[in-house]
Amino acid sequence: MNIQWYPGHMTKAKRAMKEDIKLIDLIIELVDARVPLSSRNPDIDELGAGKARIVLLNKSDLADERCNSAWETYFVAQGCHVVKVNSKSGAGLKQINGVVQEACKEKIERDRRRGILNRPVRAMVVGIPNVGKSTFINSFAGKACTKTGNRPGVTKGNQWIRLNKSLELLDTPGILWPKFEDQQVGIRLALIGSVNDEILNKDELAMELIRFLNEKYPRVLSEKYGIETEDALEALMQVAKAKACLAKGGELDLVKASNLLIDDFRSGKLGRMTLELPAQ
Ligand code: GDP
Repeated sequence: MNIQWYPGHMTKAKRAMKEDIKLIDLIIELVDARVPLSSRNPDIDELGAGKARIVLLNKSDLADERCNSAWETYFVAQGCHVVKVNSKSGAGLKQINGVVQEACKEKIERDRRRGILNRPVRAMVVGIPNVGKSTFINSFAGKACTKTGNRPGVTKGNQWIRLNKSLELLDTPGILWPKFEDQQVGIRLALIGSVNDEILNKDELAMELIRFLNEKYPRVLSEKYGIETEDALEALMQVAKAKACLAKGGELDLVKASNLLIDDFRSGKLGRMTLELPAQ
C-alpha cells in the first residue's frame, strides 16, 4: 500500500500536526528499524520542541538484530528514549508504559508539585507513511481501550484513547513527510515501500537492492535464487530466469522479476536486513 504525496497534502498535514502538538505532552515517533535515519523527518525536532519524545524502532522483526542493537545505542547516546517493537505481533509494546513514565518524569513531577495528581500523559504518534502508525495504535491500544470522546479545542473530531489511568493517546497519528532531497534516502525509502513506487524505475530499484545485497549480505542471492554473479543486471536476469518471469513473446520480464525480488525483501523472505547503520 503506497500513498501518493503532493505538496498540498504536506502543508495541510503539517498545519494539522502543529495544532495537535499543542494538546500533547509526549511524541511517540515511529521509525522503520531497517532505515532509522532515512525514515525520520528532522522537522519533528522543531515541531516537537519542548515535548517529551520516545523513538520506536518499528518493524524490528524485519531488521537485522545486531543492527537493531547498534541503533538502540545510537538513539540512547542522542538522549532519546527508545524501544524496539513489532507492532504487528505486539512484541516490545509492554515496555512502553514504563518508558513513557520515564520520558515524562519532569511533567509528572511538575504536576505533583502543583497538587495535580493522576493527570494522564497525553501522547500522539507520528511517522512517515507506511511506517506502521495505525498498526501500532491498534495493537498498543488493544480492544479494551475506551475512547474518551471529543474535547474542547480538539478540531477535526480527534478522539483521545484512554490506555490506562496514566496515558491517553490521540487516535489520529501525525503524518510526517519523507525526505526526498538525498537520492540514497529516496532509494532506501522506495525499497521499504514508503514512497510511491512510481518515483523510481522498478528495475533500477531492484538493481540497487542487488548491489546492496552483494555488499552486505553476499550469500543471500545465491541461496535464494541460485545466482552467482556480481553484475546487478545479469543477476536480475538470472532472477527472471530462475522464477520464470517471462513476457508474452517469451523474453525475460525484468519488471516482474524486480517486483518479485523487492517484495521478497520487503516481506522479510530474504532474511532480516537493515539498509543503513549509524555512522561509525
Ligand atoms: P501507517 O501508514 O504508518 O499507518 O502504516 P500501517 O499501520 O498501515 O502499516 C503499514 C504496513 O506495515 C502494514 O502492512 C502493516 O501490517 C505493516 N507493519 C506495521 N508494523 C509492522 C511491524 O512491526 N512489523 C512488520 N513486519 N510489519 C508491520
